[in-house]
Amino acid sequence: MEVYTGKSIYKGIAIGRILFYQKGEQSVKRTRIEDTASEIGRYEAARQKAMEQLNALYEKAVKEVGEMNAAVFEVHAMMLEDDDYVDSIINIIETQQVNAEFAVATTGDNFAKMFADMDDDYFRARAADVKDISERLVNILSGRENGGDIGEEPVIIVADDLAPSETVQMDKEKLLAFVTEHGSANSHTAILARTMNIPALIGVQIREAWNGRLAVVDGYSGTLYVDPEDEILSQMKARQEEDIRARELLSELKGKEDVTLDGKSIRLYANIGSVKDIASVLANDAAGIGLFRSEFLYLESSDYPDEETQFQTYKTVAENMAGKKVIVRTLDIGADKQADYFQIAHEENPAMGFRAIRICLERTEIFKTQLRALFRASAYGNIAIMYPMIISVDEVRRIKEIVAEVKRELDEQGIAYGEVEQGIMIETPAAVMISDLLAEEVDFFSIGTNDLTQYTLAIDRQNSKLDSIYDSHHPAVLRMIRQTIENGHQHGCWVGICGELGADMSLTETFLDMGIDELSVSPSFVLPIRKKIREMDLRKIKTKWSLVKVNSTL
Ligand code: PEP
Ligand code: MG
Repeated sequence: MEVYTGKSIYKGIAIGRILFYQKGEQSVKRTRIEDTASEIGRYEAARQKAMEQLNALYEKAVKEVGEMNAAVFEVHAMMLEDDDYVDSIINIIETQQVNAEFAVATTGDNFAKMFADMDDDYFRARAADVKDISERLVNILSGRENGGDIGEEPVIIVADDLAPSETVQMDKEKLLAFVTEHGSANSHTAILARTMNIPALIGVQIREAWNGRLAVVDGYSGTLYVDPEDEILSQMKARQEEDIRARELLSELKGKEDVTLDGKSIRLYANIGSVKDIASVLANDAAGIGLFRSEFLYLESSDYPDEETQFQTYKTVAENMAGKKVIVRTLDIGADKQADYFQIAHEENPAMGFRAIRICLERTEIFKTQLRALFRASAYGNIAIMYPMIISVDEVRRIKEIVAEVKRELDEQGIAYGEVEQGIMIETPAAVMISDLLAEEVDFFSIGTNDLTQYTLAIDRQNSKLDSIYDSHHPAVLRMIRQTIENGHQHGCWVGICGELGADMSLTETFLDMGIDELSVSPSFVLPIRKKIREMDLRKIKTKWSLVKVNSTL
C-alpha cells in the first residue's frame, strides 16, 4: 500500500480504480517511417474509430441535451471525412515519410490557422473544431484516449491539473473523486467538485504508474491510499456507510422551513453549473437556484451556444424548478474559465482582464443572444437574472439599456416573457463601496465571496501557494459583506451570498445576524445548513454584528 497526503477540497470517501488523466494537447513527436502504406492504414483505422466515437457521442448528446446541441458532433464527423483534410494527412505521410500522429497534428494546425484567419465568424469558429478532431485522432493513434471520455467504470481521476472546461465535460456519473498535483482550493474545478458532491484532493505528487490501480480517497484527512490494505479498505467502507446514514438522517429535514428558533427565516438556495445538477438540487430540497453559472454552457461547447440552445436549457431549469426562483448569472467567461472560440488575446492578468460583463458590454451580440434566451425562458418559470463583475453604476445603466432593447424586440415579435428580477453580483471592492448607489438600480445583490476575497486581499484565487492566506474570514471581507447588506437594505434590495463562504457553517449565525436574506450553496450543503439554522437562536448570539465597532478587529 502507498499513502500520500494532499489538501482536501471536499470531504467524503471514494473507493475505486485510478484513471490517469492526460491533457488532450500534448506535443507530438516526428518519427521517420519506412513503410508509409502501413502508416496510412494505421491512420485509416484511427479515423474509423474516431467516427465510431463521434457517432456514439452524437447519440448520447441527443438524449441528454437535444438534437441542437448534439449537432457539433455531426460537424466533427463531416470534417473528419473532408477530402482536403484527409488528402493533406495522407500526402504528408507519403511525401515526408513521417508518422501519422505528426501528419494529423500538422494538418490540424494548418487548417485551424487557415480558419482562424478567415473573415467570417462562422469559419473562424471552425478552427476549434478542426483542432478538436485532430486531437481526437492523435489520442487514438497514440493510445491516449481520455479527453473527457473516461470510459464505462466509475473512476478516481488523477491529473496534473484540471481546467473547468475539462471537468465540465466529464461524465459526472462516472466520477468518484479528483486527485490533482496542482490547482487551488478556490478554483472553479474545486467548486465543481463540491457541486458534484465528490471528494477531491489537491497538492498530491501524482504518478502515471497508478493508472488502473485500486485506490481510496479520504477527503476527511486528505489522504490517498494506492493499493489499500484490507484493513484500510474496511475502515473506509465503514466511514462511507456512516456518511450514508448521516445523509439519511438529514433527509428528514426535507420539506421543513429554513427558520431559526427565534423565527428569522431565510431562503436557502443551491448553486448549479448545468441542467444535470437539478436532480441534486431537488434531492436536497433547495428552495431555489441562487446561482446558475451559465458560462459552463459555453465551456461545454466548441462554439457559441445559439439562442435556441440556451432557451431550451433555461426553460428546462425553470420548468423543473416548478415556480421556485432560478437566478441565472449571465456569461462570466475569462480568468480560469476560457473557451478557445472567444479568441481572447493573451493577457498577463486575466482575473483582472477582459472577462465577464466586460466582454458582454463590448460584444453585445453575444450578450443579447443570452438575454433573449433568458427572457423567453422566463415565460416558463420564475427566472431572475444577475450580472457578474460589476464595478460601476454606468455598467448597470448600460445593461439596463440593452435589456430594454431586448424586451422591445421581443414585444415587437409578439414573444411572451415574464416578470424578471434583475440583480448584480457584488464581488469587487468597488461594488461594495458604491453599493448604496448600485442598490438604487437593481432588485437584489448576490455577494460573490470567492472573487470578493481575491480582489479585497489582492490574492489570486488560482495560486495554490497562497491558499493558506486566501482568508475569506478576513475582517476586511466580513465588513464588506456587512456593508453590502446594510446598503442593500437601506436602498430597497434584498441581499444574498452565492460564493463558497455562504456554505461555511462557522459563519451561518453571523450572516443571519447581519441580516442576510438568502444563502446559495452547493446542493449537498443545503440540508446541513438547514439543520444548523433550525437549531439557532439569534437572541443568544454573543457577538452581535450591529454592536461591532467599525474600528474593532472584526
Ligand atoms: C464568486 O466569485 O464568489 C462567485 C460566486 O462566482 P465565481 O466563483 O463563479 O467566480
Ligand atoms: Mg466570481
